[in-house]
Amino acid sequence: MVYTRIMRYSLRVQAMRKISAAIGVALLSVFCCVNMVQAMLPDDKWGSTYGPRAPTGQPVPISAAPATALAYDPLIAGIMSQVSTSNLSQTIMALQNTGGNGNPGTRFSYHPNLRLAAQYIGQRFASFGLGVNYDMYGSPEQGYITNVIGTLPGVGPNSTEILIISAHYDSIANRTPGGWNSDIQSAPGADDDGSGVATVIEAARILSSYSFSRTIRFIAFSGEEQGLLGSLWYAAAQQSLGANIVGVLQLDMVAWDSNNDGVMEVDANLTAASQQLAQSFSDSRQIYGESGISTRIYYGTGRGTSDHKSFWQQGYPAVLISEDSSNDFNIGHYHTTGDLLETLNLPYMTRIARVTAGTLATLAGPSESAILETDLNADHRVDTEDLRMEMSRWRGVPLPPAMDFDKDDRITVADIMHIVKDLGQTGR
Ligand SMILES: [Zn+2]
Repeated sequence: MVYTRIMRYSLRVQAMRKISAAIGVALLSVFCCVNMVQAMLPDDKWGSTYGPRAPTGQPVPISAAPATALAYDPLIAGIMSQVSTSNLSQTIMALQNTGGNGNPGTRFSYHPNLRLAAQYIGQRFASFGLGVNYDMYGSPEQGYITNVIGTLPGVGPNSTEILIISAHYDSIANRTPGGWNSDIQSAPGADDDGSGVATVIEAARILSSYSFSRTIRFIAFSGEEQGLLGSLWYAAAQQSLGANIVGVLQLDMVAWDSNNDGVMEVDANLTAASQQLAQSFSDSRQIYGESGISTRIYYGTGRGTSDHKSFWQQGYPAVLISEDSSNDFNIGHYHTTGDLLETLNLPYMTRIARVTAGTLATLAGPSESAILETDLNADHRVDTEDLRMEMSRWRGVPLPPAMDFDKDDRITVADIMHIVKDLGQTGR
């Protein structure tokens, strides 16, 4: 792609200010994650007991976010079961070591190595068969910000409705004790936000094998740490094009859980559509029995600490999915050279990734469902993977009803034999 003139180094900060001023945003006033610790503004309330609220004068989204299918769907369970911890950690390691020859590297927005990360992400999307765009903003004089976008086109009349799953691939380490030289020191950004990008890529890998009625865009934004630059431009451009974005799931820092309490957050604003997205995530967690994590939904406009805020500003429904920034923030590592894979809680991140993939697939509307009830992961054949899924719910609580074939409220040998008799059969 066209990377030869990316990020003219001498013009960097000054140039970015100029670009931002041109579209009327207050640059550098909103640092992602910098604000996370202080983000508890008075209008924030949390807890799903509050329930959705009426809109309060925010711009009206083009379409309402699609409603969650409240029923257990074996196809969604099958999608969730494919999320792989080792895939997630390998992707984070690759991002962490960008340009570092096997050691921690940097994805700082103004470092030339950032393009290596963009290429890596684009190549991963392409390997799943997605169409890939490198959206560049700026000019040769000012330098560029590049977002990487993979698209899975929807099928049928709802394909103009767009769902986005996103994270930011740039990183920073300006909180490193003793100071940080961005030219020569690393900014590994494993949690912030390698974890989010890895989740986006893993969702792309799995969902690209299915077809959905709505279009899904998998996006890695840049310039987030400089004031949400990549997403500000992207969301504004989409609004001016009249793009029908019905929901955005932004992931930023989803792998830190030092006290192992499994608490994570979903930040919604005060619009009903954003709150519905948050509720969809919470419902999916519950319906698919992901009891290792618990979800706190925050309702308020004060928590715009990541790229979801850019979509809020354009009237699009969006939420931030993140670790427990209120009570267990990654204060020791974030924005330092110590934000490394080895510090992360991989089982916790995997659970969040599973629910995220399931929520996205549910909202996107699978365009076909499994033919055979024993094809639990809906890959169109009954095989040992379905058997493994069934056996993994042995004495499971809560028990997914679709796996209890003889409806005696427990998984027994009879249920397992039900799958065995179908082994080898294929569906559509
Ligand atoms: Zn971040």
